[in-house]
Amino acid sequence: MHITALAGGVGGARFLRGLLAHVDRTPELAGTHVTVIGNTGDDITLFGLRVSPDLDTVLYTLGGGIHEGQGWGRADETHSVQGELAAYGVEPQWFGLGDKDFGTHVARSLWLGQGQSLSEVTARLASRWGLPELGVTLLPMSDTPVETHVVIEDEQGQRAVHFQEWWVRMQAEVPAQRFVVAGMDRATPAPGVLDAIRTADLVLLPPSNPVVSIGIILGVPGVRDALRGSRAPVVGVSPLISGAPVRGHADACLEAIGVESSAGGVAGLYADFLDGWLVAKEDADLQSSGRLTVEARPLLMSSIEATADIAGAAIDLGRRLARTTG
Ligand code: GDP
Ligand code: CA
Repeated sequence: MHITALAGGVGGARFLRGLLAHVDRTPELAGTHVTVIGNTGDDITLFGLRVSPDLDTVLYTLGGGIHEGQGWGRADETHSVQGELAAYGVEPQWFGLGDKDFGTHVARSLWLGQGQSLSEVTARLASRWGLPELGVTLLPMSDTPVETHVVIEDEQGQRAVHFQEWWVRMQAEVPAQRFVVAGMDRATPAPGVLDAIRTADLVLLPPSNPVVSIGIILGVPGVRDALRGSRAPVVGVSPLISGAPVRGHADACLEAIGVESSAGGVAGLYADFLDGWLVAKEDADLQSSGRLTVEARPLLMSSIEATADIAGAAIDLGRRLARTTG
């Protein structure tokens, strides 16, 4: 089976780890290949280095190097480099980068500087983390640099800040007026992205942020059309339980784009291509309608086992909704 998943950072990566655990424990899924299309709208240049937070979270989580408590960054991390930068007064200091993590960003920046594409660089990083052996291909959504910016209004007036500054430094407490994705107008899907959607047997939307993770990937020209035209069913997992995000500030993002913070509100964002939608037991009142089949399940990714069950439910639902047989 070929599964293609669109993924942001922490929520996406944890789901993918559960998906692999489910594939592992299910004999009829042996040989399954998973292609992950990762969000690069979070990417940022810091200290002259190119940082791809969502791609790295997927690499570290699947490769066993993640800081479990945080959900991002490396386990057993030290912060000497950042301490030195702070001693020199180098900004910004609100974005935490550990020493091991710095290694990833130095390697990425070095290879990009040598003329390799972000896809090529990501493949090199992924081989170190053993993704090919896991049956996983991680593709950035685009090789074109794209950055999500947030229009806010504060004591400095109306201005746009990088998504990371709004999310990490401001904790999304200053209301977002809108999101502007710099570079998206000239972005093209990275090699393999559209094919991964077209040739998949099943497309999954993990519980990633619907606006600033999945929504950004959907904005890459061609991606949304490929999902609409895909022969594979598209099944998503709600990132909201009882209208609230399990972590992060998805509610603030939804408010900015005028969408209700609820499992139904998020499904509405995908209405033109979504076939199956897993919602939490708490949201069981959401009804199937039109093309969309809704099922309620426990959706808390509290352990790898529990997450594997969610992934298994998504695969089973997809099988029942196959757009074409086979
Ligand atoms: P990203 O969007 O994948 O980069 O990662 P985030 O960590 O920002 O999380 C995205 C979404 O995942 C948030 O809206 C969370 O509510 C959701 N999420 C996190 N943990 C869980 C979980 O255990 N279950 C469900 N259903 N959603 C979760
Ligand atoms: Ca992210």
